[in-house]
Amino acid sequence: MSFDINNSGPGVSDFILLKDLSEDGLLKNMKKRWEDGFIYTYIGNVIVSVNPYKPVNLYNKDIIEVYRTNDTRDLPPHIYSLADITLRTMKYEAQDQCIIISGESGSGKTEASKLIMEYIASIAGKNSRQITVEHVKDQLLNSNPVLEAFGNAKTVRNDNSSRFGKYMDLQFDNNGNPSGGKINTYLLEKSRVVTQQPNERNFHIFYQLLNGVEPELREHLKLKESAKYYKYLNETSDDVDDVNIDKNSLNKIINTMNSIGISDSDQLTLLEGIAAILHLGNIQFELVEGGASGSTTPGSKITNMEEVEYTAELLGVDPNVLATALISRSINDYAGKSKKIIVPLDVEKAEFSRDALAKALYSYLFNFLIEKVNDQINSNEADDSQKHVIGVLDIYGFEIFEKNSFEQLIINTCNEKLHQHFISYTLLSEREEYKRAGYSWDTNFYFSNQLERSKEMFQLIESKDKGIFALLDEECLMPVPSTTSFLNKLDHYHINHKYYDSCKKTRSRRVSKLRTKSFSNGTRQRRSIKAPMLTSNNTHESEVITHEVFWLKHYAGEVDYSIDDFVEKNNDTLHSDLVFALHSSNKETFRDLIPKTKIQKSNRVSRTPDTLGMQFRTSLASLMKNVTSKTPHYIRCIKPNTTKSSTYYDESLCLAQCRYLGLLENIRARRQLPKYAVPIIQRTWRSYRAHRLLNGMKKSIIESGNDWINIKWEKEPANDKLKEAFNNLKYIYYREMARKYRQ
Ligand code: ATP
Ligand code: MG
Repeated sequence: MSFDINNSGPGVSDFILLKDLSEDGLLKNMKKRWEDGFIYTYIGNVIVSVNPYKPVNLYNKDIIEVYRTNDTRDLPPHIYSLADITLRTMKYEAQDQCIIISGESGSGKTEASKLIMEYIASIAGKNSRQITVEHVKDQLLNSNPVLEAFGNAKTVRNDNSSRFGKYMDLQFDNNGNPSGGKINTYLLEKSRVVTQQPNERNFHIFYQLLNGVEPELREHLKLKESAKYYKYLNETSDDVDDVNIDKNSLNKIINTMNSIGISDSDQLTLLEGIAAILHLGNIQFELVEGGASGSTTPGSKITNMEEVEYTAELLGVDPNVLATALISRSINDYAGKSKKIIVPLDVEKAEFSRDALAKALYSYLFNFLIEKVNDQINSNEADDSQKHVIGVLDIYGFEIFEKNSFEQLIINTCNEKLHQHFISYTLLSEREEYKRAGYSWDTNFYFSNQLERSKEMFQLIESKDKGIFALLDEECLMPVPSTTSFLNKLDHYHINHKYYDSCKKTRSRRVSKLRTKSFSNGTRQRRSIKAPMLTSNNTHESEVITHEVFWLKHYAGEVDYSIDDFVEKNNDTLHSDLVFALHSSNKETFRDLIPKTKIQKSNRVSRTPDTLGMQFRTSLASLMKNVTSKTPHYIRCIKPNTTKSSTYYDESLCLAQCRYLGLLENIRARRQLPKYAVPIIQRTWRSYRAHRLLNGMKKSIIESGNDWINIKWEKEPANDKLKEAFNNLKYIYYREMARKYRQ
């Protein structure tokens, strides 16, 4: 399909115009358009994008030019149109904007965010301060491949899946030219560093380094050639395609890092850190009865010290200090006040320490990278008050897996917040303004109920007083935290909550043995297995398994969370000896990688909750504060199938996504808006609506100057409401027209 300015595709290009306003009607229209290569459709000001899973001829400089110079709403729906409107609204209304992109893994969020950036980069800054503007654009666009190398990985859902949430502020100067950017990241999936599901891979950078490093640097990093040698890299996915992809990419990444100004020494730190993690993963332990220092507790010893030496050398620490910190830990002897007791770690605990160090190190490196990128792209202009920003949020969608863990709780909580924001801002605030403008709009029970539901849900999850995260933090502070005791507490406080359910209250699940195995993937899991039994058709054996789970009824569906490793994950522990080992590095950059709070915490005798849940709630609150202070624009991404096919439209998969994105309700609400009230109540689309409304009225241009235009109107607006709209919007229209005439 090639782009045709006059062809908006089959069916309706705005779902609001659907004749058959049912799920079936929605799905059919979407399918028809997708099959013909029309991947974008509006719902009023929202864009629905369905992943084409093939290159589409919709993105190039000429098409950008078409959207730049025309009233975008007269053109086929496009992501460029949304980008254009966002940019114009920012300029004309002098307000910060944000674009919220949501959808499942593989639905096209990151591609959409890159298209937005490209559009904004190519149209902003025409004719002024060309050199600086060009430089800023390059910096912004080049940051993408670097972030993807360290933050993306191949998963079964997406070969280039973002394993972190990204919020990026694109900053603009007074003239609306890009002056810089700032990236915030959320919830990097650290667990991937040490373990991956079958057919998935670790973060791209590991393979890119192994396959592309120059011999001299390979020697320095003590790296072998094949990924198969490293325990942290999943052998099953090291297939030919990936190797070919990875082969030349390290060079590209290094060139890009150079181009955005990351220094050679910072690059070396990053690569040394990555290599150190690979060596760390190969460190093996064996059981020592009676422990290292003659105690009766079983301990462990390291069987391949050369890997410790490689790791230690790269990190600049003493190998003995590192080895000791891996196989033992010192704890405070409270009776003897400041005295410390050395406790040996058995093999399982030593492996846990090793993995905790690898995960922590990777996340420190990732944060270091983000900091370096921000140093380069963040605008240094002192006068902040004059600037405006467009925030772009590319964050994982709602997740329901076979096994849902702590990460899913975090991700789904984040999606609950965004859902609440979508409803309250886009729909309810419009209704209020609508009412204020003197129109009546029947109460929409769906939205009121959804908001009520969100409130109760957040009470359950987030309340400082006995919310799920608070109870988990409480459990983590116990001398011997336990999953069962955590679940008991949850049940005690929430068993009657209408969005909560626990295995004790209702169910145990029948799961086949085979499936249970596929869950395990090297992570420790506690499942009490009860009596074996046969399935009804007697074809294969199954067991009744009592999971330690609780259920939450999210807006998008019911999710069962297996809590077996909640305590461990929430604690985010890197025991203090490992923190100090890393902090003893003779390389300043490695010393500086460790967040100050970690060092202070390790020094303290008393423990305060600095849990992952706590960090998440803080960063979610700041994200929401950020997002709610800006005018939002939405892109809803849909994944048409799970096989990355460019021809198969899986109706039930699409239906599920449409449901949890609330698309049908969104369409229904939009349809209730009377035609002429729209300009008054839709802040974000004012300039477009002004255009539409005023374009339709007979007029002639009398004269025009550099930034002004005089228009003679043949007729005044027909009624009072229209007159009000006309007066409110005329100035925006005048500015827009003046701009057009200037070109
Ligand atoms: P995740 O949550 O896993 O990061 P995502 O929603 O960011 O997923 P993307 O990485 O943007 O998904 O898209 C997945 C793949 O789908 C891309 O690598 C690309 O192959 C294809 N794709 C997505 N959008 C488009 C598009 N507009 N045109 C062509 N291909 C696309
Ligand atoms: Mg992505």
